[in-house]
Amino acid sequence: MSRSHDPDFWRVTPLASFPPPEKWDDWSEWDAKSWPRKVERRYTLVPTTCFNCEAACGLVAYVDKETREIQKLEGNPFHPGSRGRNCAKGPATLNQIQDPQRILYPLKRSGPRGSGKYERTTWDEVLDTFAAKIRAAIVEGRKTEVMYHVGRPGHDGYMDRVLQSWGVDGHNSHTNVCSAAARLGYALWSGADRPAPDHAESKFMLLLSSHLETGHYFNPHAQRIIDAKMKGAKLAVIDVRLSNTASMADYWLAPWPGTEAFLMLAFAQVILAEKLYDRKFLEDWVNWRETLAALAPEREKTFDAFVDELAKHYASFTPEAAEKECGVAKETIVAVAREIGAAKSAFASHVWRNAASGNLGGWQVARCLEFLCVLVGSIGTPGGTNLNSQTKFVPPPFLKPPPQNAWSELLYPREWPLSHHELSYLLPHMIMEGRGKIAAYFTRVYNPVWTNPDGLVWEQVLRDETKIELHAALTPTWSETAQYADYVLPMGHGAERHDLMSQETHAAKWISFRQPVQRVVAERAGEKIEHTHETNPGEVWEEDEFWIALSWRIDPDGSLGIRKYYESPYRAGQKITVDEYYQWIFENSVPGLPEEAQKLGLTPLEYMRRHGAFLVSTDVYEGHRKKLGDKELEGAVADPLTKTVAKSHKPIGVVVDGAPRAGFATLSKRLELHSQTMVDWGWPEFALPAYIESHVHRRHLDASKGEYALIPTFRLPTLIHTRSGNAKWLYELSNTNPVWIHPEDAERIGVETTDLVRVTTRIGWYVNKAWVTEGMRPGVVACSHHLGRWRLHDDVGTDKWASAKVVKEELSPGRFRFRRIEDIHPFASTDKDSKRVWWTDGGVHQNLTFPVQPDPVSGMHCWHQRVTVERAHAGDKYGDVEVDTQKSMAVYREWLALARLGPRPGNLRRPLHFARAVRPSSESYSIF
Ligand code: SF4
Repeated sequence: MSRSHDPDFWRVTPLASFPPPEKWDDWSEWDAKSWPRKVERRYTLVPTTCFNCEAACGLVAYVDKETREIQKLEGNPFHPGSRGRNCAKGPATLNQIQDPQRILYPLKRSGPRGSGKYERTTWDEVLDTFAAKIRAAIVEGRKTEVMYHVGRPGHDGYMDRVLQSWGVDGHNSHTNVCSAAARLGYALWSGADRPAPDHAESKFMLLLSSHLETGHYFNPHAQRIIDAKMKGAKLAVIDVRLSNTASMADYWLAPWPGTEAFLMLAFAQVILAEKLYDRKFLEDWVNWRETLAALAPEREKTFDAFVDELAKHYASFTPEAAEKECGVAKETIVAVAREIGAAKSAFASHVWRNAASGNLGGWQVARCLEFLCVLVGSIGTPGGTNLNSQTKFVPPPFLKPPPQNAWSELLYPREWPLSHHELSYLLPHMIMEGRGKIAAYFTRVYNPVWTNPDGLVWEQVLRDETKIELHAALTPTWSETAQYADYVLPMGHGAERHDLMSQETHAAKWISFRQPVQRVVAERAGEKIEHTHETNPGEVWEEDEFWIALSWRIDPDGSLGIRKYYESPYRAGQKITVDEYYQWIFENSVPGLPEEAQKLGLTPLEYMRRHGAFLVSTDVYEGHRKKLGDKELEGAVADPLTKTVAKSHKPIGVVVDGAPRAGFATLSKRLELHSQTMVDWGWPEFALPAYIESHVHRRHLDASKGEYALIPTFRLPTLIHTRSGNAKWLYELSNTNPVWIHPEDAERIGVETTDLVRVTTRIGWYVNKAWVTEGMRPGVVACSHHLGRWRLHDDVGTDKWASAKVVKEELSPGRFRFRRIEDIHPFASTDKDSKRVWWTDGGVHQNLTFPVQPDPVSGMHCWHQRVTVERAHAGDKYGDVEVDTQKSMAVYREWLALARLGPRPGNLRRPLHFARAVRPSSESYSIF
């Protein structure tokens, strides 16, 4: 019996006051607004999944039985990740649904791109236009000219299937402005690209992120970090800012930005010197023979010699040296290293964005952090740091298309063969260099003009119909990017669409079903609904149905071999419905779900519609110890010395504790401390975890000239990157992003809190307010990236809850200035609250002033900036942003020159064993 069906669960759960599931069809509460009168309101409760960050927490919509309006959204206690809890952004889904400025009908541009002129069109016209354009590209073999560019996917693999069914290489993501660096650092160790810390059972946690408050898996992680602390675990946070997370920590370490990898190696040095490592784990699971051969080829291959050489290799990373380099007291470094050593296999760690996404060489921060887990043997253990491959569960759909025979060099250019994801933010720069064009471009929950660095280069390319011939923005709301699209297509919010998601939030595998609430309510009432847009407001579609309809139109007679992927697995030759798509997955691909549903007299689809989530497994620890089966071992041989199990000389596992075991998803099947891949692909100096000096290292800064490192990456717990402009409650909470400055620096500059400062990057500058605080490392300034939304037009552009109206002027060729001409102010709408808007600020946009800075190995944009900070000049106004686009291309070329084009084993574009988004055929990896 699953926990949620155990009657005791409802008796003992701290959420016992939550409506029990048998009452979800008819639940009554007193109406809060009628207080003190007792007026009963009756609801039907529908579970769905939050879409306001990547964590995919459960939500339950309270739908008024009389009006059929959603009254509120609360947590879903059935959800294994979020356990009935949400952050502020979850309930604010209601604002998004009720936003009076949301786009309700498909729009077609009626003036030049960027003119803000649109007219209503029909979905039929949209489908015909895009089907013709895409069909022509496919038929003519232009398989790299169709591109789907996504910010927040919100699903697991649906679009991969669509794009592969079309045979195009066109998936682009936002990952290289987010997490690609850390992913490379992790993948080099184990083949898995994300950590899955088991915070709840840990004894010591080390976080390089502000993620207790805001980062990846915010709510699911935060509650488990607190669970662990309540049980006596300790927490260390590395952040230049006294973040909310740091304020909860036992140790707050604020190193110089860019020295974090050095700090990790200093912890490692103490662990090695004081022999706090797990000898058996290292001997069993690390490729120590290869590492020793690289460090000291002349030495006999013994484990003692390996440890000896490893300690020598890292001997210079002493706490004293780290104190000098990082600016953290050596006593603190020793204390934290000993805590890690004492926690042993119950040491949990996590890095997301933060130092990994800020610095040149940031990928080494993750590689060095994982080194600590490896040293103390906390990989995949209870309380340790698991691999995401052990805890994320992606059930396959029916009829998987084959990988595409195509490779887009606009996605994976040759200069970055080891990049972990697409070089997405360089797309306009590469197009401007003449590397290609796009026939059909879809942006989805993606706002590159505002989110990416160098947004004005994006704007130039998005305006140019020879470079991007046809652009549809799939979005529920206007954005700085949507205003340049040819078509703006309204798609459903989190409670208006289907998706299936899983995340590595804790020691379990689960799936969560996002479903359109109004459609479920109508179906519960016995109504026959064919498409989700029938129950969504206006003509708002959901993407699942859009892609089915579009694919069908691209290949109406099935002659291109596309249509068959969109035919029902239950009704031969008929167009599949969304119900059938998920029905098949739930019936065939989710172990345990059909049985659990049957116990309740439900079909698997009915179960998911009713409960919204399913716990697939809690058996997730130490996947590398899984014994190989007889079939896998057929024809395999174990080397008596190295204990490697191989078939035709290819490792398939490792003998540990007398049994052949699966090991890790690496070429050696061991954790790769020495990476031969790095050697073979031209980066031998980084074969082992290493320290790379950042581009914002303080050696590059002259404090006497007012130079600082700017940290622009931190998230606020209440905002959603670029997507909360339509959530009035969230903007009421957070509507300004001042520049954090230490009092000593403020005195040097001559500013106090609220005084205006000018922050100058290599391509421009912005004017913002100062916030003088001791919660900031001296010599470093920081500014959150969420705020500073702008719009050029009255009604087209970003929501008025969040945006200031600006005027954009070209001051000289290529030099542009944005100046605010209206603050945020009350406005008339169907929502009475819009007349009560009291905030005026909305913050300052800084990403426009950042040049692109691609890391030469990971391809990650290195977000931190070398800036000068000074008092605002005469004539400067709050919110001013000035950018010189001619300088920005020069900086792009400077960073491009850091990348290495070779060597290229096998004349491949990329190592075959490296993951790639929407992986093409193996033949496509070859350069002919
Ligand atoms: S943590 Fe993310 S998914 Fe969870 S409620 Fe908040 S915004 Fe939604």
